Amino acid sequence: MKKAENKVNSKIPDEVSRITEALEKAGFEAYIVGGCVRDLLLGRRPKDWDITTNAKPEEIISLFDETFYENEYGTVGVVNKGIEDKTLSIVEVTPYRLEAEYSDNRRPDSVTFSEKIEDDLKRRDFTINAIAYSVSGNTVVDLHDGRGDLSQKILRTVGNPLERFEEDGLRILRAIRLHAELGFTIEKETLEAIKRAGGLLKKISKERIRDEFVRIIMSDNPVNSLVLSRELGILEHIIPELEKGVGIEQNQAHSYDVWEHGLKTLQHAVSKKWGLSLRLSAMFHDIGKPPTRQWSPEKKDWTFYGHDVVGARITEKTLKDLKFPKEVIDKVGKLVRWHMFFSDTDQITLSAVRRLVSRVGQENVWDLMNLRVCDRIGTGRPKESPYRLRKYQSMIEEVMADPISVGMLKIDGNVLIKKLKLSPGPKIGYILHALLEEVLENPLNNTEDYLEKKSRELAALSDSELKKMGEKGKVEKENLQEEKIKEIRDKYWVK
Ligand code: ATP
Ligand code: MG
Repeated sequence: MKKAENKVNSKIPDEVSRITEALEKAGFEAYIVGGCVRDLLLGRRPKDWDITTNAKPEEIISLFDETFYENEYGTVGVVNKGIEDKTLSIVEVTPYRLEAEYSDNRRPDSVTFSEKIEDDLKRRDFTINAIAYSVSGNTVVDLHDGRGDLSQKILRTVGNPLERFEEDGLRILRAIRLHAELGFTIEKETLEAIKRAGGLLKKISKERIRDEFVRIIMSDNPVNSLVLSRELGILEHIIPELEKGVGIEQNQAHSYDVWEHGLKTLQHAVSKKWGLSLRLSAMFHDIGKPPTRQWSPEKKDWTFYGHDVVGARITEKTLKDLKFPKEVIDKVGKLVRWHMFFSDTDQITLSAVRRLVSRVGQENVWDLMNLRVCDRIGTGRPKESPYRLRKYQSMIEEVMADPISVGMLKIDGNVLIKKLKLSPGPKIGYILHALLEEVLENPLNNTEDYLEKKSRELAALSDSELKKMGEKGKVEKENLQEEKIKEIRDKYWVK
């Protein structure tokens, strides 16, 4: 056993050390292990904490107040009561395990517990994930030189890589994901094995593939890892439709093929730290180009008519196959569908903008604008002229601003007809506009009670007096509406 650096010890939360302490006090061995040790040694914040021990599940359960145990791997979840932080509210404690046969390339046929930490470390995927750390002793058990690989930033399987991937194909994707998240190099033999074993991904569940793919694309550097996964023949097993963009030359406006353009577009979304939907739509927006490409003899260039419509369909199907949630599928599908929107503010009208907003949805329209920015940068074209961009944004806000109208009132014409026994006619409109003026003056007046009381007073007035008040309300409304639009345009410095 080797002494570990002290900086690690101070980073271990009480919610974790109280568990290792309790196990040791009861006479068992206990280590934190796996990704959390790797992350601590790298100075990163662990995503979750795992403890390994020579205690058996029943023995673990008997030591803690609240636990649950609902899996076939021997993992006991120890509950830290009253802890909000999800990474600490449940800490997983797993007995040392010995790997048995894997006949389905995914799960061990049976799980056997072991008395020895060596067995447990041997079954772990990569050397950097196979380091155990004793909190009480401040020592590490590092039988596969994980720390050497950590310091050299190398990803290497524990034992023979091809055998380890054949046991569990998901490890291939975990390698690509760790490559993306940590920026490590994959060691040569491990790399060769991935090339040979990619087909094993066919047996991995779509949900697991999705989870790793999301982590790749949400990392700080997904582009290199996507390029690598294509070179290694992995991409065709994750998202074959993206692979089809490789070598698809575009028209003269583009310097890159469809695949490279998708990567460059994604890169901009990553640089901006934009979220999952935008990253996915950046990567997928031209996925409809390969099947729609046609040579135009007149233009002497390639055309891609309908690639937005076809692309949205392919995107939705691809995300559905990977079991993405419906909201993500809908949103990314819409962004891809409408990414070609016409944005020349010298030529478009507000009603064209209104149509676009209603098609893509108010909640998605700003993402669509961001996708356009990514797309232009990914093409190597300059950004939209700042004025045009601001003008378009201002037009979007204008069409989305709630109109100032009697519809804002907490009372409507039908209520007046019913409660005040008025007959339908212009009088109703005058009353509503007079009420609107009151509410514009003081928004606190907008309650059903107040408005009902006020409308009774108004209904008692003569027709001509009421008409005068109602018309005053209308003028006031129009002035305010104009002011509101001016405010929006001023905000964007546009006319
Ligand atoms: P993160 O927590 O950031 O997702 P991680 O490496 O900790 O990364 P977990 O899924 O939390 O991933 O797994 C914890 C540990 O369990 C790993 O570090 C590794 O030692 C082991 N492990 C996880 N999945 C596998 C696998 N498919 N094959 C072998 N060992 C694995
Ligand atoms: Mg982990």
